[in-house]
Amino acid sequence: MKSRRYYIETYGCQMNEYDSELVAGILEEKNYQSVEDFHNADAIFVNTCAIREGAEQRVMSRLGQYKKRKEDAPNTIIGVLGCMAQNLKDKILTEKPFVDFVLGPDAYRNLSNMLDQYHKDEETLINTRLSRHEVYEGMFPSRKEGINAWIAITRGCDKFCTFCIVPYTRGRERSRSVESIVDEVKRVVDEGFVEITLLGQNVNSYQYENSGFPELLDAVSEVEGVRRIRYTSPHPQDIDDDLLEVMRDNPKICNHIHLPLQSGSTEVLERMNRTYTREEYLRLVDRIYEYLPDCGISTDIIVGFPGETEEQFMETVSMMRQVRFDNAFMFKYSARPYTKAIEFEDTVPDEVKSDRLQHIIDLQNEITLEKNRELIGTTAQVLVEKDSKKSDKQWMGRTDENRIVVFDKNGELPRDVVPLRIYDAQGVTLFGEHLN
Ligand code: SF4
Repeated sequence: MKSRRYYIETYGCQMNEYDSELVAGILEEKNYQSVEDFHNADAIFVNTCAIREGAEQRVMSRLGQYKKRKEDAPNTIIGVLGCMAQNLKDKILTEKPFVDFVLGPDAYRNLSNMLDQYHKDEETLINTRLSRHEVYEGMFPSRKEGINAWIAITRGCDKFCTFCIVPYTRGRERSRSVESIVDEVKRVVDEGFVEITLLGQNVNSYQYENSGFPELLDAVSEVEGVRRIRYTSPHPQDIDDDLLEVMRDNPKICNHIHLPLQSGSTEVLERMNRTYTREEYLRLVDRIYEYLPDCGISTDIIVGFPGETEEQFMETVSMMRQVRFDNAFMFKYSARPYTKAIEFEDTVPDEVKSDRLQHIIDLQNEITLEKNRELIGTTAQVLVEKDSKKSDKQWMGRTDENRIVVFDKNGELPRDVVPLRIYDAQGVTLFGEHLN
């Protein structure tokens, strides 16, 4: 049978990237082949994000381009997947009638049957039902070649932060069995991956029968061929001593924690329903350094949450100075449907949000550079990933702490771990040289 060609475009978080790989696996089992240009595809899927308004607008305009493709090649299938499908299915169906499939994040298992059905009667098919159980056990993503494989271990979230749409688009939290995760790890190692990143909206609240997250980390580390293990994103509330102990004692688990702060003001944190105060977060940072003195810590920060005063914003600034994060993902608050915060009326004007965002971006750039300069003269074990962006005579790799290092090639290959001396730092990039 002649194979069909598919194209998937992915917006949003790493969980969406993982889901696109899952969908690619389903399509490849149905004899579809991946193409790099949607003009050559028989089926175009866009895996969407609903976290911020901007991402939604970009997808809507992208769908306009796919519509043109369908006008030129009317048999092209167009599918909208992911969080926006969940959230905006009615809008998509009325405003984009050329869309053939709308599938929410818990509905991908049905894609194969839906494709068969579509080929029979060519009617738009929708499945956005959320599941309390779907964790895609027994299904294997199709990954592009690389060093790092992402593996979803939990889906959904029960935390209900007041700004976040995830619990409404991805449903309640559930964990996969240790066995199925370890199976997937073995499989990706056989495919040539050496670094595993365990993924979940709230990854460290993983619980399957008697195994919590620390036990899972140990089980994954026992798979032969796994060199490094990372995870993202944890919730500060669920980081406990057991997890820090496993990180300290198991050399395969990377010395890096992405620790979303969101705000440095206890009042704002309370309105966000983050379940920790400024002081508790600071105590947690101290505890992390007690167990892991050189741990890399990165974070997420939102500015301009409803009601955020200048004083409260400056508490975020002072917190950044105090903690000195290695890196930060920083955003302006964006009101999302269904969330509690959309009802808060004391909104912050957009110009103020933009000014605050710029302020903390500048500050973080300064801190990152300062911290990276402090590393000059130290040595680091760098896992080689790929050619550096600027030259094919140099490699780019990462330290255990997730810092990027660029260095001259000297016979090593991707997947090797190379000891290097850091001799320079520019922005987020460190520059290394061989030790002798
Ligand atoms: S922990 Fe909060 S921010 Fe993270 S996914 Fe859950 S609700 Fe959203």
